[in-house]
Amino acid sequence: MKQLTRHALRCLLPGKKRKPRALWGQTGVAAWALGWLWPALALAVFYSQGWQTLRVAQAVIQYRTVDERVALQIGRWYRQAQPRFEKFYGPIQIKPFRIVVSSPLAFRKMMAQAGLPEWVQAVFLSQERTILVKSPREEGNMDQLAQDFVHELAHLYTLDCYGNTSVPVWYNEGFSEYLSQGQISIHQAIVLANALWSKRLIPLMAMEDLMHFNHNEAQLAYLEALSAVRYLEQLFPPDFSWPKFHALVATKGWKQTLQQATGLDEVDFQVKWYQHIRNRYRWMILLNLENFLWFGLLFVFVVIFLLIRRRNRKRLRLWELEEQVFPDEWEL
Ligand SMILES: [Zn+2]
Repeated sequence: MKQLTRHALRCLLPGKKRKPRALWGQTGVAAWALGWLWPALALAVFYSQGWQTLRVAQAVIQYRTVDERVALQIGRWYRQAQPRFEKFYGPIQIKPFRIVVSSPLAFRKMMAQAGLPEWVQAVFLSQERTILVKSPREEGNMDQLAQDFVHELAHLYTLDCYGNTSVPVWYNEGFSEYLSQGQISIHQAIVLANALWSKRLIPLMAMEDLMHFNHNEAQLAYLEALSAVRYLEQLFPPDFSWPKFHALVATKGWKQTLQQATGLDEVDFQVKWYQHIRNRYRWMILLNLENFLWFGLLFVFVVIFLLIRRRNRKRLRLWELEEQVFPDEWEL
């Protein structure tokens, strides 16, 4: 099962206030007043003893000694991502930021205290300019961590590219998925087809409530967001590119840029995207293993039926021939 992760705090916790708990003391109350209580909790971890620091380009990576291998690898992923990201965002100057490799236990505690769903495996704290990832030392693996980290890094780039410009959650998440995954796999195409046939597709606009989704809903929502961003790219005019799109969003805003890039407003874009999903993924339902077994079984029954019918016809013809060669009177 795919581990779901990721999302920018900026888009996932829009303006949410949380009640202070006495246990958290003055620091917690102050953070709550700003609406950022749980980042404060996350940052409290930094001041514990035993943390190591690694500097890579604009990033400071903080980690426990036991996670040194993970931290070094994250540094490599960051360096690899830089030139690739510039192709999508253009030559933007990223401000300094921090990456924290948290222990699984501390990460789970922070997510629980922040009221975030269990499927969250990494977050980008925009106010703190911090990417918080969970060490895979107990669960998960490096491949998944790589995807999660690049996804959150994309949120950081998007923030530095757009500033305070607001974009829909489906686009923010979908573009991060696009940079961390790129393609839609056969398995994911089947998931989309299943959702389409069972009428479970989630409207793109409903992703504003992503933090209230359960694991399966969130998994589907991220996939839909990825497909929507890929479809958006297909609608670009020939003279359009991602850096141009981002630059326009930063200066003219989301709605005007979407209209200029696709000729559609938000509602029409969603309608066209839904048609695109229908046309492109509808028949992937046949590749669903369960359906495949049923179709296979049906095929076997049809073949057996045809073979029996053929054998019976042969027998009938044989009997007719026998009757012609040996008429009834011969039996007397
Ligand atoms: Zn995200």
